[in-house]
Amino acid sequence: MAIRQIRKDGDEILRKKSKVVDVVDDKIREILNDMEETMHAANGVGISAVQVGILKRLVVIDIYDGNKPLKLVNPVIIKQKGKQEVEEGCLSFPNQFAKVIRPMEITIKALDEFGKEITIKGKELLAQALAHEIDHLDGKLFVDIMLPGTMEYLEPNNNENEKRKE
Ligand SMILES: [Zn+2]
Repeated sequence: MAIRQIRKDGDEILRKKSKVVDVVDDKIREILNDMEETMHAANGVGISAVQVGILKRLVVIDIYDGNKPLKLVNPVIIKQKGKQEVEEGCLSFPNQFAKVIRPMEITIKALDEFGKEITIKGKELLAQALAHEIDHLDGKLFVDIMLPGTMEYLEPNNNENEKRKE
């Protein structure tokens, strides 16, 4: 596994649409492993492949609930329910946080890292992370939907750096 460079705000790749993955092979699993390591090194709860410069529909999420990180290939939202107003950050926007409205519950379909079809239902933080990462695959960023006037800029190394980044 290797830590990859995270693309930051202003990098035009973040605005591009990622491509559907046709075959889930060792190369894809290697990218997913690198995404996991990169996300953990940056204390993130989620990461999309575009954030490490790869335009493929790949997402890794770890909400630190004791379960293994989710590794998703071609995730698609098939159902959403309710709303939650949450504070959100992004690995591509260091030290910036804003409030957004996300679904309270989300159901997605995807392939796992072995190409098997899976359905995942997430609530609260998991629903938020799924929505955030799937947006990345279409070039959408949390700053596009943030509630006006809620952006906060934190000093690096401030305690609040423990806040969630996706
Ligand atoms: Zn993000």
